[in-house]
Amino acid sequence: MTPHVLVVEDEDALATLLQYNLDKEGYDVALAQDGEEALVMVDERLPDLVVLDWMLPKVSGIEVCRRLRSRAETRNIPIILLTARGEETDRIRGLDTGADDYVVKPFSMSELTARIRAVLRRIRPGLAEDRIRQGDITVDRVAHRVRRGAREVHLGPTEFRLLDYLMQHPGRVFSREQLLDAVWGSDVYVEARTVDVHIGRLRKALNLDVENDPIRTVRSAGYSLDLDS
Ligand code: CA
Repeated sequence: MTPHVLVVEDEDALATLLQYNLDKEGYDVALAQDGEEALVMVDERLPDLVVLDWMLPKVSGIEVCRRLRSRAETRNIPIILLTARGEETDRIRGLDTGADDYVVKPFSMSELTARIRAVLRRIRPGLAEDRIRQGDITVDRVAHRVRRGAREVHLGPTEFRLLDYLMQHPGRVFSREQLLDAVWGSDVYVEARTVDVHIGRLRKALNLDVENDPIRTVRSAGYSLDLDS
């Protein structure tokens, strides 16, 4: 699945350059121009990684970092901070800002994309791998196959993407709207109820025998994948 990267940068030229290059690297990129907009966008669709400028209008990069880290839902989103030379304080070097890494401006695109890949590999290995495994479920993204224990599970394309997404974030609760954006795409109009239909099909295919249901329905909130419960 294409990693969704939110770029928060108020300088238009740099923002455009970042969007162009990250798009070319195969990321699904969204842009926010200030900290306030960034926080709204994160609520609408959880990014897989945030590239965050330190000096931003309205809400600073550090404050955005602090707020993302303070909420369970956004606590584990990897953050790469962009700083100008001179802003590079001991605080940033020690990363006690809550960021996972930082890049000092001016930087080359290859340096930034290398950092993004490294952070994603370290924090979200599921995104980079051809095969992901949680409990007794294995998703092979190359062969497009799913196994539960020794049994092969046959899924439709939407159920496959849904399972793949849930497998990347075990234990995290997603609302129907968040799942629609992540699995169907934010530009597609689908009713929230559609998610329930596909979750139902996914459950049926996964729990063919007497196995435990790994998908938890969280009343009025949404769904999560819980394999160790
Ligand atoms: Ca700035």
